[in-house]
Amino acid sequence: MHVVVNAAASADGKLSSRRREQIAISGAEDFARVDRLRADSDAVVVGVGTVLADDPHLTVKDETLRAKRRKNDRPENPARVVVDSSGRTPTDAAVLDDAATTYLCLSEAASVDRRAALADRAALITAGDERVDLLPAFAALQEQGLERIMVEGGGELIFSLFEAGLVDELRVFVGPKLIGGRDAPTLADGDGFVAEFPSLELAEVDRLDGGVLLTWRVAD
Ligand code: NAP
Repeated sequence: MHVVVNAAASADGKLSSRRREQIAISGAEDFARVDRLRADSDAVVVGVGTVLADDPHLTVKDETLRAKRRKNDRPENPARVVVDSSGRTPTDAAVLDDAATTYLCLSEAASVDRRAALADRAALITAGDERVDLLPAFAALQEQGLERIMVEGGGELIFSLFEAGLVDELRVFVGPKLIGGRDAPTLADGDGFVAEFPSLELAEVDRLDGGVLLTWRVAD
């Protein structure tokens, strides 16, 4: 399995404002790059915080890219995965439409009622008691044949994935905006590291959309 975390951050490292609304940090060039990365992936993963804040669809937007996937005998969109301990994903969320297979990674905390409400719209995976235990959850995704994984945020999930040692690559577009705010989500939130900080190796630097795309490999 190869896990790429992709995000757009402001110049000061924020993923959105303190209101947690989606903000256009990048532009058309980066949008197209993200679409290509999705089209190259077997699954796109987000935390339930992102579903509740942005209601993303997580599908491939470019018809040419979808046609290429079909030609290669792949579903036209990658699978969608939401990490969602108690099943808070609304049943009318865009990720639960029929454009692609959706997996909900739940924990034992998800009630029987929530499971029943979600089970006919998504495949349910259970890992962990209170919060989703990411290592077994990702192992279960791999068992479904999902090898190339793209993570699209948010900051809570990204931190946990680094903590679990699951990230191979970090691609962050740093855009020409300053958002600020101590409560605004950053690229990696959670509790933060106080020791044994993950080390990154800079693999590529590209200028686009008035900002810079940084590609980091996670050092072993
Ligand atoms: P998030 O990372 O999308 O989701 C976090 C939630 O996932 C947690 O609160 C938790 O909710 C659930 N979860 C379950 N197991 C977990 C685990 N092991 N580790 C971490 N989380 C786990 O939410 P967020 O950090 O609040 O990010 C949302 C914000 O980021 C929004 O403002 C959105 O606009 C922004 N965003 C920006 C970008 C960008 O590229 N700029 C991309 C995505 C999102 P439960 O306890 O209920 O399970």
